[in-house]
Amino acid sequence: DPPREPQTEPQPGDGTAPAASAALLSVRGLRKSFGTTRVLESIDLTVGRGRVLALIGPSGSGKTTILRCLNGLETADGGTITITAAEADPAAAGATPAGTGTGTELTVDFGAAGGPRDKQLAALRDRSAMVFQNYNLFPHNTVLENVLEGPVVVQRRPKAEVTAEALALLTRVGLADKTDAYPFELSGGQQQRVGIVRALALRPQLLLFDEPTSSLDPELVGDVLRLIKELAIEGWTMVIVTHELEFAREVASEIAFVDGGRIVEHGDPKQVLRHPREERTRQFLHRLL
Ligand code: ADP
Repeated sequence: DPPREPQTEPQPGDGTAPAASAALLSVRGLRKSFGTTRVLESIDLTVGRGRVLALIGPSGSGKTTILRCLNGLETADGGTITITAAEADPAAAGATPAGTGTGTELTVDFGAAGGPRDKQLAALRDRSAMVFQNYNLFPHNTVLENVLEGPVVVQRRPKAEVTAEALALLTRVGLADKTDAYPFELSGGQQQRVGIVRALALRPQLLLFDEPTSSLDPELVGDVLRLIKELAIEGWTMVIVTHELEFAREVASEIAFVDGGRIVEHGDPKQVLRHPREERTRQFLHRLL
């Protein structure tokens, strides 16, 4: 390859905190097939620390599969995923981030002979947390038990410490009086707030949201979107699959349009939504209007 030009153009992250331009997530050449169906052709993505990437695109284009590969719920067939841990977790200042240590870069190479090692996959999984479209709470566990499960059982953190943190988070999202309730006793909006608290309690580097409001009744969507926006303002790094274009424009630092298992276009939200460069993006947005 020819030597790269020095970067003189403004880069994403300029003008904010100095650390904001450091990549937290970097994905290169990620591929995934189910049987003979190629779902991800070759995905390249970089998300800076503290930034919010919205993935938009038609149904079946591969957006959820990208998130599931990032979170280790699916194992990619090729390519690499790198997640770099912060020196200090911005959202849990003063606390020791759990799991895999701090300030370290973890790269998992899915094309390696024999595939990635289990230990690496477990470490990768520990760096992100997913908020699901259908909440995915354990139906036979209480709200508090749902939140404690990952940190206590999987991450093996002290139960008393995690409980205190979980109660503070549940209070923050207005669910202090629901800690002993079961998921079926909650509205969809409340269940999704538990889903978000459960993700936060894992103290991940990266939050992944898979259409977090698309199962909600319209009147409950606003509360959940407001909470996600607050987390963005607090500096959490996030990847959000969403159909809520207005929300994406408001909250995302950048938008990627996914079609046919590829990132067709990636840029500033206003540019992608108002002045898409690619015909396929134009057609997709046009259909939504
Ligand atoms: P999106 O989130 O953009 O709607 P998905 O990532 O959910 O797209 O799905 C992309 C494609 O992969 C779809 O054609 C879907 O049917 C297929 N797919 C997803 N998961 C599986 C699976 N576990 N087995 C077989 N096909 C799958």
